[in-house]
Amino acid sequence: MADDRAVHLRLIETTDLHLHLLPYDYYADRPMPDIGLASAARLIAEARAEAPNALLFDNGDFLQGTPMGDFIALEGGMREGDLHPVIAAMNALSFDAITLGNHEFNYGLDFLKKTLARAAFPVVSANLLKGPGDQATLVKPYALLDRMVQDARGESHPLRLGVIGFAPPQVVDWDRHMLEGQLWARDIVAAARTWLPEMREAGADVIVALAHTGIGPARHTDGMENAALPLARLDGIDALLTGHNHLLFPSPLFAALPEVDVPAGTLAGKPAVMGGCWGAHIGLIDLLMQREGGRWRVLGSRSETRALAPAPHIVPPAPRKLRGPGPARVAAAVEDAHQATLTAIRRPVGHSARPLHSFFAHLGCSAALALVTEAQRAYVAERLSDPGLRALPILSATAPFKAGGRSGPMGYTDAPAGPLALRHIADLYAFPNAIAALRVTGAEVLEWLERSAAAYNRIQPGARDTPLRNPEIPGYNFELIDAIDVTYDLSQPARYDSRGTLISATARRVVSALFEGQPVAPGDEFILCTNSYRASGAGGFASADYENLVFRDERLIRDILRQHIARQGTIDFKASGSLRFAPVPAAYAIFETSPAARAHLDEIAAFAPEERGLSGAGFLRLKISLSGAH
Ligand code: MN
Ligand code: MG
Repeated sequence: MADDRAVHLRLIETTDLHLHLLPYDYYADRPMPDIGLASAARLIAEARAEAPNALLFDNGDFLQGTPMGDFIALEGGMREGDLHPVIAAMNALSFDAITLGNHEFNYGLDFLKKTLARAAFPVVSANLLKGPGDQATLVKPYALLDRMVQDARGESHPLRLGVIGFAPPQVVDWDRHMLEGQLWARDIVAAARTWLPEMREAGADVIVALAHTGIGPARHTDGMENAALPLARLDGIDALLTGHNHLLFPSPLFAALPEVDVPAGTLAGKPAVMGGCWGAHIGLIDLLMQREGGRWRVLGSRSETRALAPAPHIVPPAPRKLRGPGPARVAAAVEDAHQATLTAIRRPVGHSARPLHSFFAHLGCSAALALVTEAQRAYVAERLSDPGLRALPILSATAPFKAGGRSGPMGYTDAPAGPLALRHIADLYAFPNAIAALRVTGAEVLEWLERSAAAYNRIQPGARDTPLRNPEIPGYNFELIDAIDVTYDLSQPARYDSRGTLISATARRVVSALFEGQPVAPGDEFILCTNSYRASGAGGFASADYENLVFRDERLIRDILRQHIARQGTIDFKASGSLRFAPVPAAYAIFETSPAARAHLDEIAAFAPEERGLSGAGFLRLKISLSGAH
């Protein structure tokens, strides 16, 4: 039993910061409340003040994720001896140790080494290697932290805390184009088995895993990405800080998994936590320990996450001032980098020869969407490694995220011709989705198109004023696939409903779908570039399933788009695929769009648009003809 000689040890975690240091959205060029390490520093200070024995760890994925990261790596550069702002911030907050996530490698190994050189704390990772096989680790596999800890009576005791780090072994594949021949990885559990006995022999009283890996399958498979559960089962691991999923643990999200005890905050019986991402949360593990016969025993534990903001549905977030010594120290440490980033984001990234908007996306006419699909395709094509996959034709799909509806008549993408700055790129791609690619059959491509076609109302021959769009389908669930010439017959009923459920096995709106002039056959195979949100099944698109996922990394499509534009310099291209409507005799439909679309009506001349005033909500109503061939 615990008595007043028991020691309360608190482990504090930040994870997946993705270089969110200040509460600022560099894409929109405005403050973004309730994220960022400087803000989280307030939570860290409170958590430290409550516990006499507290240690602070970062669990990886700290180096990449905001334009600040790209600016430093790709424009400013790191010279030998430079202090990266994330390290400056971590030094200012006196982190006790950190581990490496997969994103630490996005800018190559040299950049990472220069970054870590100025860290005032140990950096540990046990499964990332300098060579193949069981060779030397890239950084120290583990660290032993000697601390004097106080018991409830205020008496001090020596404690040697072992800290060991892990990252998903897939990191080598995800950044293969930069790491080949420089970095190797081994299985997380196998690496733990190698080092844990040595840590005990070296006198570690308690061992904490800084595990940049998610909470996933309970069963261990070699090289698994989300290995927190099999890792937790190992003798010798006393507590786990997890991450990589960008989620919270304890939380009901993981309740269905075997060996996960949400109320107890344990994985396979071991105390564990996952502190979200972007500095919006911190994770805490409290261990109650007692020294008996010269050995420390863990008597009990509790895990908790703490948020900067209450859940958004409870109180709308309001900007907070960075107050208190912790936040101010971080803000001071990163101020120069912040200013340099602001200057960089306000410079044009590239130039567009034509306006990029989403006013007519549902008419199949959007250079803005075509630019996104082109950027996705180029990124994936460069990174598919499997020769069997590289041989398949690549399609690329995206949705008009900003396309009126509930966002109102101003809720459209609208970037004028001319210089493109970062805020235009945020306008072109409004969501922080990551890139993904699926292996799909021709039959699945056809279903994908049918699911998209649910975005239209049924237009009968002779129709006069039927609205073209089904108001129940938001822009993000309507997709255009480049490189496919599709023709929809809107006089046919929809095959899918607004949630993506098949409602009629016989209904077909796709009358023709051509790839390079040839009809898409059910047995054809393609790579389909899409986003993480869609690939996880959102919207119920056929084949959008992890089983079909052949490429993924956490790079945001917005970043990919920015780099694509920067590389191209001037954007001026023709979309490679198109959408047409089969003639519906004597039919007209009402297409609602932004009043700002008036300046671009020439782009949809084939529909013979006629203005029919503004709707009550302020949309421009266009009468469009569906009786001709478009
Ligand atoms: Mn991450
Ligand atoms: Mg990660």
